[in-house]
Amino acid sequence: MTAKKDYYEILGVPRNASKEEIKKAYRRLALKYHPDRNKSPDAEEKFKEISEAYGVLSDDAKRAQYDRWGHAGIEGRYTAEDIFRSINFDDIFGDLGFDFGFDSIFDMFFGRRRSQRTGPRKGADLRTDIEITLEEAYRGVETTVTYPRLEKCGECNGSGAEPGTSPITCPNCGGSGQTSYTKRTPFGHFTSVSTCGRCGGKGTIIEKPCRECKGSGVVQRKRKVLVKIPPGVDEGSRLRIPGEGEVGENGGPPGDLYVVVHIKPHKFFIREGDDILCEIPITFSQAALGTTIEVPTLDGKAKLKIPSGTQSGTIFRLRGKGMPSLKGYGRGDQHVRVIVKTPTKLTRKQRELFEELAKIENDQGIISRVINAFTSPRS
Ligand SMILES: [Zn+2]
Ligand SMILES: [Zn+2]
Repeated sequence: MTAKKDYYEILGVPRNASKEEIKKAYRRLALKYHPDRNKSPDAEEKFKEISEAYGVLSDDAKRAQYDRWGHAGIEGRYTAEDIFRSINFDDIFGDLGFDFGFDSIFDMFFGRRRSQRTGPRKGADLRTDIEITLEEAYRGVETTVTYPRLEKCGECNGSGAEPGTSPITCPNCGGSGQTSYTKRTPFGHFTSVSTCGRCGGKGTIIEKPCRECKGSGVVQRKRKVLVKIPPGVDEGSRLRIPGEGEVGENGGPPGDLYVVVHIKPHKFFIREGDDILCEIPITFSQAALGTTIEVPTLDGKAKLKIPSGTQSGTIFRLRGKGMPSLKGYGRGDQHVRVIVKTPTKLTRKQRELFEELAKIENDQGIISRVINAFTSPRS
């Protein structure tokens, strides 16, 4: 056992600190290291340490003993349990409306209920990723996801012991899960209790580990789950599948599975929120004369009216042809950008017609007017 730290140092207060200062210091540290709030591995030990320091320094008689004799003056007279029990938690934290969980902390420290360590624990949550097409995202889809998960070993039924054998009582602690250490001082003896290092507090050890799970009681298996993906899911949507995470410990409930959805890029459509974007090529004559074209949508073909005189790059909206909203009502739109394609290979007939068109445009001075507009300094 290493030398115990000074109680004033532990609380970070001077030796002449007032009761109020000591209380304040403890309150600040206790909120920081409360085992329910602080999950770092040494928080429990730290909490125990500051509580012991406070238990002594907040009590006039104990503080006087400590000031005179140091730790020896305390250890001989009071057990850690007594010290902890004397702390008035309501007085310190009452105004916070904070449930201090005194009983469970007490049990955790002094081991009244071993179930604190070996009781039911919820299994871990798991995550798996899937990729679906935009069409599947549009309609919704039922699909199977396969993912690795730790499950109870069937060979040993989760005990970790080779079938035919069973875990035996820990010879180190006799099954209590704890070891106690008694220190004699001139004032009597002081007993401290700690978790058994051999069995980790379980009270049992495995002599012959199960060959299937190597004594862990769990094995990794491939789990298949049917997932219903609702219409409208987007890239990165997370679906929670309750109870399909890792199995719980000691009869605790299983964790949840989170399925993260990814959507494959589509060769024709681009998604933007609930809207769908696409580009459609049209010809010179369609743009000039106007027409009705068929446009692919996620819901089959739709008719789109192109008015005469449409410029390349114009965007038309097909209302309600976008993605369904995940909220369950409303739909996005489909935006269609039309691109006027300049023909690259002309048939003889087309060439004749274009030449004729060019002649008319020349006669009307269309070309020269356009040229002038670009070349004259100011119109
Ligand atoms: Zn096993
Ligand atoms: Zn043990």
